Amino acid sequence: MIKEQGAAVKPFRSTEYELIVIGGGPAGLAAAYNAWQSGLRKILIVERDRELGGILNQCIHSGFGLEYYKEELTGPEYAGRFIRQLQGTAIEVLCETMALEITAGREVHITGKRAGYAILSAKSIVLATGCRERARGAVGIPGARPAGIITAGAAQRYVNMEGYMPGKRVLIVGSGDVGLIMARRMTLEGASVLACVEIMPRSGGLVRNIVQCLHDYNIPLLLSHTVTDIRGRKRVESAIVSEVDENQLVKPGTGQVFDCDTVLLSVGLIPENELAHAAGIVIDGQNVSTSAPGVFVCGNALHVHDIVDNVTLEAELAGSAAARYALAC
Ligand SMILES: Cc1cc2nc3c(=O)[nH]c(=O)nc-3n(C[C@H](O)[C@H](O)[C@H](O)COP(=O)(O)OP(=O)(O)OC[C@H]3O[C@@H](n4cnc5c(N)ncnc54)[C@H](O)[C@@H]3O)c2cc1C
Repeated sequence: MIKEQGAAVKPFRSTEYELIVIGGGPAGLAAAYNAWQSGLRKILIVERDRELGGILNQCIHSGFGLEYYKEELTGPEYAGRFIRQLQGTAIEVLCETMALEITAGREVHITGKRAGYAILSAKSIVLATGCRERARGAVGIPGARPAGIITAGAAQRYVNMEGYMPGKRVLIVGSGDVGLIMARRMTLEGASVLACVEIMPRSGGLVRNIVQCLHDYNIPLLLSHTVTDIRGRKRVESAIVSEVDENQLVKPGTGQVFDCDTVLLSVGLIPENELAHAAGIVIDGQNVSTSAPGVFVCGNALHVHDIVDNVTLEAELAGSAAARYALAC
């Protein structure tokens, strides 16, 4: 877990900024630092979590930075490099602070332990709020609703950051990278991972993750399969997995029972853009600029990235664009 907070110890002191970055993950960190290098001197990062680093804090596996640093780093190591860069700047950081609302006129409403409720203004804003996981409702998995059904990312945070083990006999639904990585992680922590179930005829995960997280641990990957029932009263007791045809329709009579106490869902990520949507700001999914002048977006908030190195490069573009805008105001 990253303890260094760079400028995080500096007190909150101003309501007017050249740039406010919302989200202190790799996108927000790179955007803020690039804006500093481009000449801005009044920059604030607002982060709702206890510390900077974003999703990388829970990604303790290696595989980050192969392109950007030409090195293989863990998630916290990758984020740590950017956090350390902030120490040489006067960029302000407010952790445990949530941005509740933004306006097209570049006001940012925040709330948190240190700032209370405050309305800040900025010449430019970078939205770097990351993404969220699709949950059971989004894929319509039928069955009971007992405890033990959680997203793979939530399980990753429980295991790697909070020190909780979410279950002992695990079924993974969806073969995206988060699910694959959690199949290995749960195995290493002593759980039995019974299978990874994927409705499509191929996995959406990186080949390296299929090999290193499933094949190396003899975890079956059931392609063209889906969960057709979850059973259990208080806790998950079993799940039924059935084969599907090329139209993703369940083939009758193919159901197999998996005795599991936990179902981990890895069924897609969605950019976290509620602040922009509520303000009527349009994000096109490709460009770091938005429909609101001076409001920029980058990282998984713009579109979901597989590789963090690409997040960094895109965030640097957003940071320099935000700096150009603020300096011209
Ligand atoms: C499980 C997993 C494994 C991965 N493995 C790899 C890998 O092996 N190699 C690789 O290169 N990439 C990997 N990635 C991808 C990479 O981690 C992401 O692409 C990258 O972290 C995205 O950065 P981000 O800053 O856009 O989002 P995030 O890291 O999610 O950061 C967004 C931040 O915004 C904050 N935030 C959101 N809303 C608000 C708000 N309203 N107010 C204040 N703060 C807010 C959040 O708390 C969070 O800290 C993995 C991703 C996951 C999920």
